[in-house]
Amino acid sequence: MQQKELLYEGKAKKLYKTDDENLLIAEFKDDLTAFNALKKGFEEGKGALNAKISAKIFKMLEENGIKTHLVEVLDDRRHLVRNLKIIPIEVVVRNIATGSLTKRLGIKDGTVLPFSLVEFYYKDDDLGDPLINDEHALLLELVEHENELEELKRLGREINVIMKNYFAKRGLKLVDFKLEFGKDSEGKIYLADEISPDSCRFWDMETNEKLDKDRFREGLGGVKVAYEEVLKRISEDIK
Ligand code: ADP
Ligand code: UDP
Repeated sequence: MQQKELLYEGKAKKLYKTDDENLLIAEFKDDLTAFNALKKGFEEGKGALNAKISAKIFKMLEENGIKTHLVEVLDDRRHLVRNLKIIPIEVVVRNIATGSLTKRLGIKDGTVLPFSLVEFYYKDDDLGDPLINDEHALLLELVEHENELEELKRLGREINVIMKNYFAKRGLKLVDFKLEFGKDSEGKIYLADEISPDSCRFWDMETNEKLDKDRFREGLGGVKVAYEEVLKRISEDIK
């Protein structure tokens, strides 16, 4: 597989074309951003950690019947992925209230939600990724049909059940996370982008210590150590 020109450089990854138009190379960067890139940072080795963590989780999800964009892990920080048309909706699933949910609705931080909450955010940096409802998504034509919104919610819930159980066995509470999906040329929906401590919140089961990007957002330090701990826990052979 030959890496060709840079297609896109985002906040956390670079996407390259390949000699196959159906495949892209995603390269994980060491940059960290928060608050719609108002806060910027750099953590040597973070990209490689996220590449490893995301690959493990995507493979685990595939084993559980979820279709993902991951084709092959190329090296420390590069994945070969399906070239998809990304649906510009960030699907956020929450099990415990924190972050923007507590600020918006006044729910006490750490409240265990009575059911897992699925939210849609419009993926648009200029607008600051606003929270939207189904009708907004249809109005903006972010999907072709209402059924696709139901499919995104169903997939979000299904992935949550699988991941919550997987992380619980490894001593981590899955607080919340963000998913992206894309369509292939036939309109088939795949899980895309990444699943990592950049896009999920993990709290230690016993101590509630934060083991994710909140360490960067809140200036707590120990970002890399936390990401290494997540990788260590998911690398252990647990049934
Ligand atoms: P951002 O664009 O928010 O700064 P990244 O730096 O992570 O985020 O950039 C990766 C970009 O690649 C995102 O816009 C994401 O939607 C897109 N993407 C992820 N997976 C795929 C895929 N399989 N095919 C096409 N685009 C993808
Ligand atoms: N998230 C993400 N990318 C975004 C926004 C949110 O990966 O652009 C993730 C975030 O890491 C958390 C979940 O989605 O796991 C919910 O984030 P929230 O809405 O609370 O956002 P924040 O507090 O970061 O503003």
